[in-house]
Amino acid sequence: MVKTWSAPAIPEIGTVGDAPVVFCTSARGPVSSPRKQAEARLYVCGITPYDATHLGHAATYVAFDVLVRVWRDAGIAVNYVQNTTDVDDPLLERATATGVDWQELAREQTELYFADMEALRVIPPDSYIGAVESVDRIAAAVQRLLDSGAAYQLDSGDVYYRIATAVQPPFGTISGYDRPTMLELFAERGGDPDTPGKEDPLDALLWRARRDGEPSWDGGDLGPGRPGWHIECAVIAEEYVGLPLSVQGGGSDLIFPHHEMGAAHASALTGTELARTYMHTGMVGLDGEKMSKSKGNLVFVSALRAEGVDPMAIRLVLLAHHYRSDWMYEDAHLAGAARRLEAWREAAGRASGIPAAEVIANLRQELTDDLDCPAALSVVDDWAAAAGSGPADEDTARIRDAIDALLGVVL
Ligand SMILES: [Zn+2]
Repeated sequence: MVKTWSAPAIPEIGTVGDAPVVFCTSARGPVSSPRKQAEARLYVCGITPYDATHLGHAATYVAFDVLVRVWRDAGIAVNYVQNTTDVDDPLLERATATGVDWQELAREQTELYFADMEALRVIPPDSYIGAVESVDRIAAAVQRLLDSGAAYQLDSGDVYYRIATAVQPPFGTISGYDRPTMLELFAERGGDPDTPGKEDPLDALLWRARRDGEPSWDGGDLGPGRPGWHIECAVIAEEYVGLPLSVQGGGSDLIFPHHEMGAAHASALTGTELARTYMHTGMVGLDGEKMSKSKGNLVFVSALRAEGVDPMAIRLVLLAHHYRSDWMYEDAHLAGAARRLEAWREAAGRASGIPAAEVIANLRQELTDDLDCPAALSVVDDWAAAAGSGPADEDTARIRDAIDALLGVVL
């Protein structure tokens, strides 16, 4: 397990009993989460450390940070695991293109990511697990899939998951996408529909046999190679969180193939469903296009921090958009967030014009309703606008603590 970043202090504001209701992608609607579990088991897919941390990443991890805060506020114990895909094609390609050792690149980018998360006051996961440290476990899982007939090996040595064997849940259940959409997204998002010898173009890579110039590990009977991406998450989730997860989370670009395949792999390996709830965050764009490495239109948290932007203003930019919406970043968002932060900080020095119990109840109501952060920010705006002229009082202090505990914004 990798040591991550320092946890922010979380003020105690007293607990309430309600678990949040959130939108589940596979249920296509709202569900209470966690369902029938005293403990919330959260797995959020982590970064591939080569281009960290752009605002799209930050929006995702801040959204799940709010989920963790709302769970804790409801008195629910949380076990949160995040992986890091510390060996995969995009990382190796970037390392080759820039002439940097791939391990050095991963180390550097991971450190940057940790520093960004700490600055944004994100609560670190309980376990942060790399693909590299999990290779033996993943190879053993792939071997089990081969033995059970859920996978097959090509002459090249590459091993593929046989989607035709996915019955519980039926393949396609998580995303709800039709086959033409799946084929299109599979090709777009790292899949290899055209590899000769595959039984179905959608069959997903489980084990990539050693190639010259690429790192590889001993795979036992599989032969030397390295793990595929989807099986990495299924195996780490099972080992470090336990199945079923209360929530499998990630960006909406992970719905297919990543989470669809992960669910199929987990079910084939354990007979248990991967997750009861699938939560997906919207995509952040710039200049009319989704923020992505391939388009090169990335806004980095570290770059904003280096310009002297208050990380709390960055956090407020992210919270001002509902986690499920797709949105376009503009510089004006940052200016607006800075003004909002200033107004809140000014109010934090004055007597509260609204009783703390009322403000906190309203905050909780908005956040347990599918993490409605924009509405929660409005609750705080209303409080700030109603601040009295006297000095800060006990209500002010309680509200300031609640803003910190629930929204992660320290005033
Ligand atoms: Zn994942």
